[in-house]
Amino acid sequence: MIPAAYALLDLEAVRHNLQIAKRHAPNAKIMAVIKANAYGHGLLRIASLLLPEVDAVALARADEGIRLRKAGFDKPITILEGFVCAEELEGLYQYHLDAVIHSSQQIDLLEQRRGEGLISVWLKIDSGMNRLGFKGREVEAAYKRLAGCQSVNRPVGLMTHLATADDLYDGNTPRQVAVFNELTKDYPGPRNIANSAGILGWRETLSDWVRPGIMLYGCSPFIGQEAEQQGLRPVMSLKSRVIAVKQVIAGESVGYGGGWVCPRDTQLGVIAIGYGDGYPRYARSGTPVLVNGREVPLIGRVSMDMITVDLQSQPEAKPGDPVTLWGAGLPVERIAQAAGTIPYTLLCGITQRVRIVEREHG
Ligand SMILES: *Cc1c(COP(=O)(O)O)cnc(C)c1O
Repeated sequence: MIPAAYALLDLEAVRHNLQIAKRHAPNAKIMAVIKANAYGHGLLRIASLLLPEVDAVALARADEGIRLRKAGFDKPITILEGFVCAEELEGLYQYHLDAVIHSSQQIDLLEQRRGEGLISVWLKIDSGMNRLGFKGREVEAAYKRLAGCQSVNRPVGLMTHLATADDLYDGNTPRQVAVFNELTKDYPGPRNIANSAGILGWRETLSDWVRPGIMLYGCSPFIGQEAEQQGLRPVMSLKSRVIAVKQVIAGESVGYGGGWVCPRDTQLGVIAIGYGDGYPRYARSGTPVLVNGREVPLIGRVSMDMITVDLQSQPEAKPGDPVTLWGAGLPVERIAQAAGTIPYTLLCGITQRVRIVEREHG
């Protein structure tokens, strides 16, 4: 029996995708980004698979890092958002987590600290994204204060984040790299710039370290591109099954709001997946769905537990038949496009009730 709403993970694909990152950045150390529950794929699962093959991992928040440490992982873990108070900073020391330092308040806390131990840090430079980090003339003072802190390891790492690397036609990325290089030219620490889009698309962003995220999970980071064009293999396939098939006649409406009206007599399939599983509520009518491996269009509104599809091309389809919502055979990039979002939100938006099933193949 095919279960309702499950995510089939091809773990071999994670290794394959990591090799692609290594091929593009052969001289860089790899800091694999596994924030947000490894983009929905399971933090501990992906960490145990990747950690032997990477130099470090990055998480957004301290509690994610502590969870990894408590599970026994001993590789370097960088906390991309750092910490906001002395208590949180103590947690980083206690669990040997590395911190991204992006504000002078964080440096105040480091200077005020009196305890034992050393913390490794990345000084975050805001090279144009205007989110976290020190800008322009703030950088020198921040660097000097950090490098002078008793409880901070040297050398201080140097990091920035790219705002538009997903757009291969936007000239902003080289500009950000130039700003970063200029602001850090006098400092000895390791450099760390590239996300997936930098690694795959912008050689000038490659430096001592790279931070692949989405590409590890088998998605292209680029606007209007699919994974295959980069040789990436999708890791997650979201799957379910047909639970009902019914005839409708021209003029009848389907689903909540009655917004979709059948243009002709047809056969509908009802599938056990909905926004309660993380399937996007805003997927438009026409979004592709694979039933028995063949594409049919979504019609009508996405409900919490169900969607409806037009089975005109598959009169033989029946309850219990297998369905793929995205993944192998149906790139998640296409679904993201049809739902007005990006693959990241779909992957990390899978909800608790979706069963995760691992597939290893040799
Ligand atoms: C999420 C994140 C990454 C990884 O980005 P991808 O686009 O998923 O490769 C890298 N660096 C920082 C600071 C991030 O927040």
